[in-house]
Amino acid sequence: MASQDPRGNEIEVLAAALSRLPGLGPRSARRAVLWLVKRRESALVELLSSLQAVQENLVECHTCGNVDTSDPCHICADPRRDGRSLCVVEDVADLWALDRAKLFSGRYHVLGGRLSALEGIGPEDLNIGTLLARIDEGVDEVVLAMNATLEGQTTAHYIAERLEERPLRVTQLAHGLPVGGELDYMDEGTLAQALRARRPVG
Ligand SMILES: [Zn+2]
Repeated sequence: MASQDPRGNEIEVLAAALSRLPGLGPRSARRAVLWLVKRRESALVELLSSLQAVQENLVECHTCGNVDTSDPCHICADPRRDGRSLCVVEDVADLWALDRAKLFSGRYHVLGGRLSALEGIGPEDLNIGTLLARIDEGVDEVVLAMNATLEGQTTAHYIAERLEERPLRVTQLAHGLPVGGELDYMDEGTLAQALRARRPVG
């Protein structure tokens, strides 16, 4: 017979589910569960309803790959945004980080990852075809806002090469970004600086 865990099965199941979240190990997952159990009527109810809202309402924007409550997302649908300027990012988290900094007035394109020989991720696995199609609809500037990692930079170079023949201004974030730096972890001042000082690729 399996030994009875004093914490009960529900708690273990929830802790196991939470421990799969990025940045949350088993120990902090169990602490989070305990914290929630102590606040059943307040925090737990609030968390439940926001999880349900996310499950019911969040969709991927077919234009840019953002995750939002509408498709097209609020950025693609916003007429004040400059559709002739596109900022290309690896993941939705990067888009959100840049948008929080409120410095870029154009629109975004989410690749859905980065090229990685190690993980077998090639150009066909990323949203590059849709990027080229958007660019050909009329874009003047492409800002490559990849992470300052080896794979991020490889991806930026690959896209820059694909854009070479097009009459575009292709820039990338300035190397104010620390090497290995991921946009999502950067404070807004650093991001702002990297974006303001963006320079032509080449
Ligand atoms: Zn969008």
